[in-house]
Amino acid sequence: MTDLKDKPVRLVVNPRSGAGGKKLLAADLRALMRSAGVNLVEYTTRAPQDATEYVRKTAGQTSAYVVWGGDGTVNEVASALAGSQVPILPCPVGTENLLANELKEPHELDKIVQTLLHGRCVNCDIGLINGRHFLLIIGIGFDGEVVRRLTACRTGHISHLSYFWPIWRTFWEHNYPRMRIALDGQTVFDDYGMAFVGNISRYASGLRICCDARYDDGLLDMVIYNCHEQRRLLMHIGFTLLRMHPQKGNVIYRRFKHAIIETDRPVPSQVDGDVGPDTPLDIKMLGAQVRIIVPPAPQKGLWARQKGSTNG
Ligand SMILES: [Mg+2]
Repeated sequence: MTDLKDKPVRLVVNPRSGAGGKKLLAADLRALMRSAGVNLVEYTTRAPQDATEYVRKTAGQTSAYVVWGGDGTVNEVASALAGSQVPILPCPVGTENLLANELKEPHELDKIVQTLLHGRCVNCDIGLINGRHFLLIIGIGFDGEVVRRLTACRTGHISHLSYFWPIWRTFWEHNYPRMRIALDGQTVFDDYGMAFVGNISRYASGLRICCDARYDDGLLDMVIYNCHEQRRLLMHIGFTLLRMHPQKGNVIYRRFKHAIIETDRPVPSQVDGDVGPDTPLDIKMLGAQVRIIVPPAPQKGLWARQKGSTNG
């Protein structure tokens, strides 16, 4: 585990993530960490990309970053730490928390502190989309349009309900682009549809679009849905819910290291839950680039023993 003694641990709080109660919990986490003897410095982000700048400036004087925010905030911190040995502990306090859930990070405050003190580090791959880092999942076409609509009307904290109108309007109004997709130099798709790229298996609301993706295998998973209208989209959603979509004839599921995606007109993308660049897209796997702190070991009763030894 990382030595937390020489340099402070930095708690990066995104005040836009999580509902009101979660904000109070951030204060409780700070108190718990300090009472456990952690040398803690807290920073509250003020604007998008603020976390990246703060982490760039402070990484040399930090033993670990605890991220109190959603997947977007984790992306911002990880972007600044690509290639560094300073680890991140993501707290599941956003709307989806895809990375925290994929890595089975605890939700309880005392277990978050125990993970920081006694957890282990895993190496997580990072990808690059048009020169920008990503950690989790990219959606191209339909998904990008939903997030673009959501962001245009977002004022603060978002919940699952916030997605209803953007999804509803995109469902009825989306004009599916013609996409040409080349993976590792070979054209695999040239038709109408939408595509997803995953470094992890989880997607919003429990869906597993890139269902076989692993964060540490040095490859990205691509799922391409051939689609041009609402009825086909509903069928794709049904098969995806059943996790049977990779076997369908009009779905392509491939692993790759480098993808080029071109469309008949610029269409938006979604990157780690935020608005990404419009097409054309150049997507690359960079390999293991960031260290994440995860709970000690998956054996039963370990939490209880550690709790006992901490208390006693
Ligand atoms: Mg992978």
